[in-house]
Amino acid sequence: MRGKLVVGNWKMNGGLRQNDALLAELRARWAAPVGRDLALCVPYPYLWQAQTALSGSAISWGAQNVSAHAGGAYTGEVSAAMVAEFGCRFALVGHSERRARCGETDVAVADKAAAALGAGLTPIVCVGETLAEREAGTTRTVVLRQFDAVATRLGARVSAIVVAYEPVWAIGTGQSASPDQAQAVHRLLRERLGGVDGAAAVPLLYGGSVKSDNAKSLFACPDIDGALVGGASLKADEFLAIACA
Ligand code: PEP
Repeated sequence: MRGKLVVGNWKMNGGLRQNDALLAELRARWAAPVGRDLALCVPYPYLWQAQTALSGSAISWGAQNVSAHAGGAYTGEVSAAMVAEFGCRFALVGHSERRARCGETDVAVADKAAAALGAGLTPIVCVGETLAEREAGTTRTVVLRQFDAVATRLGARVSAIVVAYEPVWAIGTGQSASPDQAQAVHRLLRERLGGVDGAAAVPLLYGGSVKSDNAKSLFACPDIDGALVGGASLKADEFLAIACA
């Protein structure tokens, strides 16, 4: 049986003092139970702080984005290799907030996943439908389109990624997908991965209003291998309760 991976996404939150307190508390209290992995994806300026606070602990860290480009005239961008220098294990790519607000296309997300892998990072590829897409009955089409763009770009290397199914309508709304809704999409993704050698073990995370009171029922689903947690990852008690659910 695959273990569970719980990843926090701080989004654009934090500050040096509050991060210090949160990181120290997580480090002190995370008992690293067998079969549970914990990680945090923090804003770029705080990567050094996460590295300093978490090195030698059982908690991993990562970035929330990487550039698709290796270097050069891309003012304001941060390459995957730069992120990797801070000891990162993960990089989120294709978060729905970036797809919607920064115009990231499926092709751009696939390029970012390839850049992350090329730098030795594990990309956490986010996919998910909007409410309008769900109501139009196109969840399957949208999620597979987003996933296939990455799978096509990566080929056999797709076995080295993590996928996070995050229905857009569940992110930051307090309205999580039900276990049945989430499991149905995870099963679809699991079947898609089944066609690729070595990809059966790719972790499939669910994200969207995961809290300590719904994590257990989500984690009980056969194809849900953990969670990507936004708002609730900013509070040590709540985040650790989710990680142990
Ligand atoms: C996210 O931002 O990836 C997320 C899942 O947010 P939240 O848990 O706050 O819904």
